[in-house]
Amino acid sequence: MAMIQVLKPKFHVDECLEAVRECLEKGWTGMGFKTVDLEEAWKKYTGHKHAYYINSNTVGLHLAVKILKMQNGWQDGDEIISTPITFVSTNLAIVYENLKPVFADVDEYLCMDPEDVEKKITERTKAVIFVGYGGRVGQLDKVIAVCKKHNLKLILDAAHMSGTKVNGVCPGTWDGVDVTVYSYQAVKNLPTGDSGMICWADDKAAELNKMLAWCGINKDTYARSNKGTYAWKYDVDYVGYKYNGNAIMASIALTQLPYLDEENERRREIVEMYNEGFKDNPKIKIIPAPHADECSFHLYELVVPDREALLNKLSAIGINCGVHYRDNTEYSIFAFGEGQAPRAREISQHLITMPLHMWLSDDDVKLIIEKVNEYV
Ligand SMILES: *Cc1c(COP(=O)(O)O)cnc(C)c1O
Repeated sequence: MAMIQVLKPKFHVDECLEAVRECLEKGWTGMGFKTVDLEEAWKKYTGHKHAYYINSNTVGLHLAVKILKMQNGWQDGDEIISTPITFVSTNLAIVYENLKPVFADVDEYLCMDPEDVEKKITERTKAVIFVGYGGRVGQLDKVIAVCKKHNLKLILDAAHMSGTKVNGVCPGTWDGVDVTVYSYQAVKNLPTGDSGMICWADDKAAELNKMLAWCGINKDTYARSNKGTYAWKYDVDYVGYKYNGNAIMASIALTQLPYLDEENERRREIVEMYNEGFKDNPKIKIIPAPHADECSFHLYELVVPDREALLNKLSAIGINCGVHYRDNTEYSIFAFGEGQAPRAREISQHLITMPLHMWLSDDDVKLIIEKVNEYV
């Protein structure tokens, strides 16, 4: 029997190669050209006002925290409330800027629990990072309300949320979200090799982002003051970073983007089959999703009594499931947060990720359901 992988991107290979060929023939593989086209296409697709193409979501989260810190005069040691159930980048971004992650517990959607967010607020709290876990919007609306009430900034880690909508609107564009960061990493819903998009609500932040993501370079001042003659000249205003995306990756994203909605539709079909197949098994807990009919479903997780045993039995017959995201307070660098989110700790020890991607046939899904029900 063929092996079933847990995550596997499906590239439209010939079209991708054609788009890459265009870059190579034109001799333009860096920033610009396809990266600009992609920014425009992404703004049109999502409704975001600004979009800047970056080389990963991780660097985008760093820029988000850094720019908010600069603009709002945050001090080292100030706090950002985050989730312990996420890829480590979410929380690294806080530490990069000498700020301190405080961990809120998760709700039944594996997203941040708004009530616990409110309990974790101190005098030093400046912002919240919300992760749309598995593409779920969770209780983002309630977290936004908490942020507004306490005058906190809100960063949306939308690494899983490419294509997620609520009543046709991308949650990242909601009023109260200051900045949204997407990932086009190799196995995410819109796969490239590595890259992502950062989308600011505020014009000034978006301007600052352009400079900080490109080594602090400011072309505009010289362009304004020395029209024409000094086109080659620029100033460096900030200690910036090399965080911009390139045209090769952008050409892949541009090729994949028109397929995103139909691929997410297929994800939802598979999720429905799984939900139906597991709903009567008392040993299995399904993670619900609000607005499931518009969710991108990057991941499908189950809560099972003995995860290791199930993983091993399934892999023995060629079905490879996964484990995504240990409670981050189990990592040495975040051990100081241990005990802050007991529900997250408990649930993260029982989570198993089911295969979910474009290569799965209905028969594959049926087989997985049958075997999981047999082994769990
Ligand atoms: C993948 C992921 C990231 C990091 O994205 P990169 O583009 O690989 O840097 C951040 N947060 C979450 C929740 C992710 O799943």
